[in-house]
Amino acid sequence: MQYLRRSFLAFFLILPFSIFGQKATYIANSGVLIQSGSINILIDAFFTDGKGRFLTPESSQLDAMVAGRPPYNNLSLALATHAHPDHFSPQQIGKLLFTNKKLNCLATPQVVDSIEAVMDDFESIHDRTLTFPLSRSWKTYTQEGLTVQAAYARHAGKSNAKIQDLIFIIEINGKKILHLGDADMDTDRFEELKLDFEEIDIAFVPFWYMTNFYGGEFVRQHIAAKKVVAVHIPDNYNQESLDKIKKFVPNAIIFERPGQSVTF
Ligand SMILES: [Zn+2]
Repeated sequence: MQYLRRSFLAFFLILPFSIFGQKATYIANSGVLIQSGSINILIDAFFTDGKGRFLTPESSQLDAMVAGRPPYNNLSLALATHAHPDHFSPQQIGKLLFTNKKLNCLATPQVVDSIEAVMDDFESIHDRTLTFPLSRSWKTYTQEGLTVQAAYARHAGKSNAKIQDLIFIIEINGKKILHLGDADMDTDRFEELKLDFEEIDIAFVPFWYMTNFYGGEFVRQHIAAKKVVAVHIPDNYNQESLDKIKKFVPNAIIFERPGQSVTF
C-alpha cells in the first residue's frame, strides 16, 4: 500500500512534463508565449503598431510583460525576429530589459540599433541585447535550460529586401520550436538551412506560406514540423482565405484569437 501510494505520488510529480507537455499561447500577429516547465519565452510579442491590418497586444498585456506578472513571470528570454513595427517596438523591448535586469534579448543588429536610437540609458541594457554577425550559417546561443539556433533569411517581399530576419530554433526540455519571423519562402535558402533534418516539434509559420498548393508542399518538405501553426493572420481575415490554409495544410492550427493555445 505504502509503495502504491509512493508510485502514485511519483506519477503526479512527473505529470506536468509527461502529459501537459509544453504550451504556446497566441499573443497577437506573430507574437507567441512559449511555456515549458519553469521557462517562459516571448517571441515577437513586444509591439504596439499593427500597421492597421494586424492585431496588437493590449497595453495591459504589455505592462504585465514588463512587470513580470503571470503568465509572463519567470521570463527567460525575449526574441525579436526583425525590426518591423508589427513584430517589435524598440520602446517596449527597451522598457522590458531596463526593468528585468537579468533578461536577455536575442535579435537582429537592426533591432538592437533601433533600441539604441530611442533609449536614453541604452548603456544599462547594452550587454543584454544580443545579436549575431550577418552570415549564412546557423549560430548557437545557450543559457540555462535552453538553446537557440539562429540563422538569417531574406525578409519576404522585394520592398523589404534590406530587412534582416532571423529564423529561430529554440530547444527546451528536448522539444524544438521554430519561428520564421517574416522569412521569404525561398527554396534555395531553405535547402541550405535543412530544417527538415531538425525534427521540429512545432513551427510558427506566416499564413501566406499555406494559402496555395505549392506553399503547402513547401511547408511539408522544407519545414516538416510535427505541428504547424499559422500566424501573422490579418485582423478580420475572411473565412474563404482561412479555408485555403485548412485545404492546403489540413493539420495546421490557425492562431487568430489572442489567448488561444496549443500544447506540444
Ligand atoms: Zn516584417
